[in-house]
Amino acid sequence: MGETTRRTALFGGLTVTAAGALAFATAGRAGAAVEVPDIHPTSEWDARPAGGAIVVENHKPTYIVVHHTVDPGNNTDYSLAHALQISRDIQNFHMDTRGWIDTGQQFTNSRGGHVTEGRHRSLEVLRGGTQHVQGANVADHNSECLGIENEGLYSTVDVPVALWNSLVQLIAHIADQYGITPEFIKGHRDFNSTECCGQVLYDRLPELRTEVGRLLGVSTARADVPEWPLLKPGDTGPRVATAQRFLRAAGFGVPTDGVFAAATTRAVTKLAAEHGLSRDSCTAARAVDESGFLGSDVWPLIVPAGRSTAAWRSELAR
Ligand SMILES: [Zn+2]
Repeated sequence: MGETTRRTALFGGLTVTAAGALAFATAGRAGAAVEVPDIHPTSEWDARPAGGAIVVENHKPTYIVVHHTVDPGNNTDYSLAHALQISRDIQNFHMDTRGWIDTGQQFTNSRGGHVTEGRHRSLEVLRGGTQHVQGANVADHNSECLGIENEGLYSTVDVPVALWNSLVQLIAHIADQYGITPEFIKGHRDFNSTECCGQVLYDRLPELRTEVGRLLGVSTARADVPEWPLLKPGDTGPRVATAQRFLRAAGFGVPTDGVFAAATTRAVTKLAAEHGLSRDSCTAARAVDESGFLGSDVWPLIVPAGRSTAAWRSELAR
């Protein structure tokens, strides 16, 4: 059995940390006790020094964001050695190809369920529980998000059990450290127009919130407003037709046939560029072309005025 965090004890209204006092310390939260996961620091995987100053935000993160690395192989090497290797690979890709100062995400979770520190200082600052390291993993939202990269591609296949279990444990620990409630666990696509964290893993986020909530001893009964839907080139249907009507109203010469083809892709790409929306923000381990994707950062630009964001999101979720 692992140790419990100091914060868990404080939630119970007592400051005791001795293992023997655990039952009393956590009684205030329905007996919840969040284990501290084993997180392998940058020093353990021979990370390169950061190429610039690490920014530490002087506040807690608002959201915990789930990503996938888009590694199409869905590797079957579940060893710790492999987890340390992908940490190096991702850092090299982010520094050498993306041009970032360091790994984009704060933490990485391997298919074998091994968790490593991504960006330098993320672990030490998490343990402090009052600040967070600014990463590069959610365009325009990096000061409020803490990102976890999950090794693999989960658009059509499910995550391994080991990865799922370590993800639940890691998120519960982060949420416990910062006092974040489960509804603030998000997928990358809830902020940017990206497939990340893969449709299958994304569809499991409600389950993830429930499991994390159980570990935290908090209720997840609150019904969230649906997120903006993600539409992609090749998609068809009434939502595509709705988006096309909005794009036409915004001056783009697209058909309203409900088929997300070349003209619609061009219109969305142009709109995104005009508004300076990043299309290469994901911390994936390789480059992915998502230039025509229509999601969370595009809908607010095209929905007609006069209704609230929540009303539109609910409407489009039907
Ligand atoms: Zn992502």
